[in-house]
Amino acid sequence: MHNSFEQFKEDVSQVVGDTALQQKIRAAKKQYLIGFEEAITQFSNLETAKRRAVFSRWKALENLDNYLIEFEANFIKAGGKVIWAQDAAEACNEIMAIMNKSGESKIVKSKTLTAEEIHLDEALLAGNIQWTETDLGQFILQLAGEKPSHMVMPAIHKSKEDIQQLFQEKLGVKVQNDAEALAAEAAKVVRSKYVKPGIGITGANFLVADQGIVAITENEGNVMLAAARPRIHIVITGIDRVVPTVNDLHVLWPMLATYGTGQKITAYNSLLKGPRRNGEVDGPDEMYVVLIDNGRSKVMAEELQRNVLTCIRCGSCLYNDPVYSIIGAQPYRSTWMGPPGNIVIPIKEGMKTHGFHNHLSTLSAADTEWCPVNINFNKLLLNNRQKAVDDQSSGTSEKLFYFLWKQAMLKREIMNWKSIRPASFFMSNIFTKSPLGLRKMKTPAKESFNALWRKRMGGG
Ligand code: SF4
Repeated sequence: MHNSFEQFKEDVSQVVGDTALQQKIRAAKKQYLIGFEEAITQFSNLETAKRRAVFSRWKALENLDNYLIEFEANFIKAGGKVIWAQDAAEACNEIMAIMNKSGESKIVKSKTLTAEEIHLDEALLAGNIQWTETDLGQFILQLAGEKPSHMVMPAIHKSKEDIQQLFQEKLGVKVQNDAEALAAEAAKVVRSKYVKPGIGITGANFLVADQGIVAITENEGNVMLAAARPRIHIVITGIDRVVPTVNDLHVLWPMLATYGTGQKITAYNSLLKGPRRNGEVDGPDEMYVVLIDNGRSKVMAEELQRNVLTCIRCGSCLYNDPVYSIIGAQPYRSTWMGPPGNIVIPIKEGMKTHGFHNHLSTLSAADTEWCPVNINFNKLLLNNRQKAVDDQSSGTSEKLFYFLWKQAMLKREIMNWKSIRPASFFMSNIFTKSPLGLRKMKTPAKESFNALWRKRMGGG
């Protein structure tokens, strides 16, 4: 997480002119849309399906305390263990404690945004623990030493050529410049590590309260290898992932597949209920679920803003967000990126230091249109802005500026003051640069539309 607006600006200045990055994001979106248009046809009434998804997520959040306790009780009944972690540090400590106690050294990890959120990789490195990423995108990022650029497609910023070069440098292999050949090479390396791993770490897409089930959906089949083969399985997840019943997955899984990867349904959908029981042939001896708050309670405390936690992390809004399309994910320095990030980050980190996220939007509403759970980003952003004002997070000069701006904009007579011409004054002196200082504003016209119109109509 960046600490200041200055740091964010610095990060943005590194990527804003990166046309190659923008081209990769556009190419990924194009590919996504091809699948999406076919997959979306599975919903005979999309609006009804969306409303069901919203209802399911909203119901879970409105009764989160009850559903989490219900999940915990049922998961423990199935033989699993639940660990509650207040923040990232507590979560990492708990996970490290399980590892150290187990004496296991072979660790495999599948794609999990929550592990990224708590900086688990850094904790593992600090503890001298080696691990293997099993998801292709994460494997590429591990080799490159980089962070995910998208919720669903972590290596979206890497082209085939980038990956080919990376494999040559880090693995010493020259692979054809072809997606299948590159994936096959990665699978060869990753699968060689599956020979009896001791600990598998995964995330969870949903936690089903009434059954104590962990629901995971994926395309590569690697999650199951990380969940079923190791002696210990650790699931890392946010407290917002819970849903009331298994029936909720009837709509949430197809929604996630369609909006996440442009598929009708993802290739592997697994329901895991505790460790292996007597008579079962696979599954771990021990299974843990680490339930992480890490600022979610702060968001939950906001009556309107908590809506953002209905997010199913499909990443669809990112493809359709003009800001993300230009700067990608790296400047956010958070797994909360793009439109949901703009709502969550200022609440989690504080309006004073991170309130600038409230302005990282064109308010085009394309993000809402593409959101399967209809999150009204504009409404939430405006509410965040209001909160920043109420919290007195905006500086005195900013307040004075907007006061004067408002007075001028509300009165035509003031706007047309010949001696100062406030509209031109603001445009030429205040709005000369965009907030990031990366774009020049246009010079205002000498005469206002109002004046031109009056002349034309003969009003003088
Ligand atoms: S906010 Fe909506 S579109 Fe964006 S990731 Fe979440 S569910 Fe998907």
